[in-house]
Amino acid sequence: MALYTEPINNLIKQFGKLPGIGQKTAERLVLYILKANGAEAEALARAIIEVKEKMSYCRICNNLSQGELCQICQDEGRDRSIICVVEEPNDIIAIERTQKFRGRYHVLMGALSPLEGIGPGDLKVEQLLERVKSEKVSEVIIATNCDSEGEATALYLTEVLKPLGLKLTRIAHGIPLGSNLEYADQATLGQALEGRREL
Ligand SMILES: [Zn+2]
Repeated sequence: MALYTEPINNLIKQFGKLPGIGQKTAERLVLYILKANGAEAEALARAIIEVKEKMSYCRICNNLSQGELCQICQDEGRDRSIICVVEEPNDIIAIERTQKFRGRYHVLMGALSPLEGIGPGDLKVEQLLERVKSEKVSEVIIATNCDSEGEATALYLTEVLKPLGLKLTRIAHGIPLGSNLEYADQATLGQALEGRREL
């Protein structure tokens, strides 16, 4: 006997696909939706559709953007000679919160992971190299996560960027080993950025 009817099962399954949501949490979310009034549930559904319709990735840096270019790439006040390389768009938000960086970003859209079959060709590395060559960049800050994938990615980027003869730095100081940038607190991340070491 099925515990839930089909529409409920279906929603549990959809919630269960989200990161960090297990079966129990998915069930709780569905029960919450069932209790919510129609307008509330509809607002949630509409917000999901809207974010997919209206948001895309910046043509230059792969940050989330509402048009062709993200707000940071559009901002004439940002220092174009420094690029901070991160794994995901979320990392930009974390670094922006520190207010310690006035350059621009490049989102790799992931990190190297042999276990998951993610190689350099799956990341936006080629695009980064093009930018470095065409935008007169003098420094690249590698701000990938401090876990094994992030470190492997930093190592790879060092190999391909070093021959271009620019200043190459890596944030390190203060970020606990094995941790994600997005979970680092503002002050720690700010210090990590200021205490970046040259590669
Ligand atoms: Zn951008």
